Parts: sequence; C-alpha cells; structure tokens
Amino acid sequence: MVDKITVGYTHLSGCTGCTVALADNYGGLLTLLDKYVDLKYMPTLADARHIQKVDVSFVEGSVCINDKLAVEEIKETREKSTVVVALGGCACYGNITRFSRGGQQNQPAQEAFLPIGDLIKVDVYIPGCAPTPQMIRNVAVMAYLLLKGTKEQKDLATAFLKPLMALPVQGTACGASTACFCDLMTNVIDQGLCMGCGSCAAVCPVRAISMEYGKPNGERDLCIKCGACYAQCPRGFFNTDVIGEYEAINEAIMAALQ
Ligand code: SF4
Ligand code: SF4
Repeated sequence: MVDKITVGYTHLSGCTGCTVALADNYGGLLTLLDKYVDLKYMPTLADARHIQKVDVSFVEGSVCINDKLAVEEIKETREKSTVVVALGGCACYGNITRFSRGGQQNQPAQEAFLPIGDLIKVDVYIPGCAPTPQMIRNVAVMAYLLLKGTKEQKDLATAFLKPLMALPVQGTACGASTACFCDLMTNVIDQGLCMGCGSCAAVCPVRAISMEYGKPNGERDLCIKCGACYAQCPRGFFNTDVIGEYEAINEAIMAALQ
C-alpha cells in the first residue's frame, strides 16, 4: 500500500473550468486517486465539504473580498495546508474575475475579486485558463514524488516544480499577483518565445490585443490588467533551465501513472 499524500481542493470565484480540466484526466485521475492521492475535501468530487489539514491544497478561483465566507475560506486553507497551489489564471492573477464588477473603463480600480496571493502566501502557481488536464495531473504526480519519492525522484520533482514555485515569488511587471500585457511583452514576446498561437488575443475581455504579422500587439490604454493573456499564454512560464531534464521528468510521470 503506497503512502498517499493528502490533498484538498478549495473552490472560489471562477468559471469551474479548472475542475473540468482536472476531471478531463479520466483514467489518469482515477490512477491518482487510487495510488497517490487521498482527496480529503472538494465540493465537487469528494463527499467532504469542510476544509481539513492536508499536505497539498489546490485553490481554484479568485477571492471575492465582499464575501466574508470566501475570505475566511482562503485563510483557513492556508492555515491547514503545507503547500498551497494556485490553480488557474483566476487564482494566480485574477484573470476574468477582475472584469466582474461595474461598467469597466480603461484601467479601473478593480478590487472586488483578488487573486489568492493578495491574501495569503502561495507556494506554486499553475497558470492557464484553464490549465491543461496534463499539467494538473503532472503537478499532482510531482507533488507526490517530492513528498514521498526516492532521492532521484525528489530531484526530478524539484526540477519540474521549480519554475512554478518561482512564479509567486518573482512576481510580474505589475507586482506580485497582477499581470498585464507588459508581462507578455517582457517575458514571452521580447524573449523570442511567442509562437503566434493567438490565445492571448482570443482571451482578452476588452479586445486590447490584435495579431499583427503573426504576433500579438497590445493597446495598453485599453488594458485593464486582468492578466488573462499572461495566464493563458502557453509560453508564459516556460523555463529553459529544465529543458535538459524533461525527458527524465516525463518518464517519471509516465511510470507513476502506469
Ligand atoms: S491585454 Fe487584455 S487580457 Fe491582457 S491583461 Fe490587458 S485586458 Fe487583460
Ligand atoms: S498566447 Fe503567448 S505564444 Fe500565443 S500568441 Fe500570445 S504571446 Fe504568443
């Protein structure tokens, strides 16, 4: 019997797309639950609705600070979790929930929905709107290997998780947990990492991004700093430092899921 890690899932304000992405792992999710994860609470998938003490908490959605319960819930999640993972663009940067209140003018003071990093210390960011099912599954496997694996597995898990653990610490051009088109420009486009997929332009709620000659161009006067483009960009958290270890990392994940 494998020594499982305990996991919780706190669900705050968002579209529930991250839960759907998690469930889209199908057999992979069943393997995780069977072998590695003891799901202690999750409003949607587990028959337990009260926050419990766990090794790892995944948090989906941003915090509505007008909702006392949501504020208490995120604080209790932090108190009862060894590791807190912000899952998806809303938890990491606010994303579309930044756009959820009032007639938006350019650059509004939008403070009703905050990314969780504005209220608690966060250990890992998984950006994406929603993150891919594989990404969520891989982080769960790597969290298990980091906490319960052999020395070699712990080293691989550290290499895999390092870029995601750096995101809450390094912050963005706008601050710790606010992102905007400048971050896309600085960390992706100017680094030559943009592959012209157009996801950033498609996700922008105010149509501030247009694709020109295959590359995104942002109108900064229109940008409301929701961070949706940065959260959505598949290259936004690309880390060249771990490229050399990716084959071994993938092998470790595949072996764990067999
Ligand atoms: S460019 Fe659009 S998606 Fe990106 S932060 Fe600004 S408003 Fe949000
Ligand atoms: S989402 Fe990222 S990779 Fe895709 S076009 Fe925008 S900046 Fe480029």
